[in-house]
Amino acid sequence: MGEFDLIKQFFTRPSRRAVLGVGDDCALLQPTPGMQLAISTDMLVAGQHFFADVDPFTLGHKALAVNLSDLAACGATPLAFTLALALPESNASWLAAFSKGMFALADQHQCELVGGDTTRGPLTISITVLGETPPGQALLRSGAQPGDDIYVSGTLGDACLALEALQGKIRLSVNDLAQARQRLEQPTPRVTLGVALRGIATAAIDVSDGLMGDLQHILDSSHVGASLHTESLNEAMIVSGHPLRYVLAGGDDYELVFTAPPHLRETVIHAAHSASTPVRRIGSIDARPQLRLLDAQGVMVSGAFKSFDHFSDSVQP
Ligand code: ADP
Ligand code: MG
Repeated sequence: MGEFDLIKQFFTRPSRRAVLGVGDDCALLQPTPGMQLAISTDMLVAGQHFFADVDPFTLGHKALAVNLSDLAACGATPLAFTLALALPESNASWLAAFSKGMFALADQHQCELVGGDTTRGPLTISITVLGETPPGQALLRSGAQPGDDIYVSGTLGDACLALEALQGKIRLSVNDLAQARQRLEQPTPRVTLGVALRGIATAAIDVSDGLMGDLQHILDSSHVGASLHTESLNEAMIVSGHPLRYVLAGGDDYELVFTAPPHLRETVIHAAHSASTPVRRIGSIDARPQLRLLDAQGVMVSGAFKSFDHFSDSVQP
């Protein structure tokens, strides 16, 4: 199958929202008047971000999910995306499953594939998503204030647990692996929650590299510190009975960490409920710099947990 047949067969569908979709030199979109565009790109490389032999349906889902998660962290409503694909070969059954997984998630969010690029090369998937927010309402990393509560959505740690099990570093029961693997391979981007938090959250980020590392980005951008209450995180994993490091520094969770002032606690609960997304309060923002981990008695827990960094040479503790 040639490049153009491949694009036509697997990546071309009738445009609904775009003025012009796949097939010309550019796609054309008509943004909603007065809205700001939110744009983000995430790349997945075989061997680096996923096993080359992973189920292509789940890979299609995840490639788009990690991008939608960035829109969620900004409180943006998804509009459209482009897909740049490097493929070692043109394998019809692989492409059929990959596009099916990707479009299933795209349809859930009415996010339309409007273009891309296809080339031969080591399996790499780069997606750029476009979304929109009302001007000035995007959730940024920089707005956290001393006294704000810190929240996290959903569950943490299971994706890392599954990864370590698949790498043979730990052993899990068949049942536990199935549950954890679902979180690794088919994360749920918290788009509805992100939109519901517009005007409520003072700062937000999605957890891709680990809770502590990603929260640290909020602290750096907002010039504040934080205290995390570890007892609030003891039940954060779906598969229980594993060290807290999975929750604190696992990564690949694609949950939202966000801050909001204490007088909006009821409002946050209401927003989470309206988005059908559980959230838990895990700590608070301090004027004093740095991130502190406190146990149930308020005693500092040592926490040399490192988040994932592609260019770091140091070993994870
Ligand atoms: P050009 O040579 O103008 O860059 P291409 O031949 O690369 O165009 O692509 C032809 C059309 O197919 C364009 O509209 C492009 O956006 C689209 N396209 C190419 N690859 C993909 C893909 N993987 N997914 C969706 N659309 C694609
Ligand atoms: Mg091209």
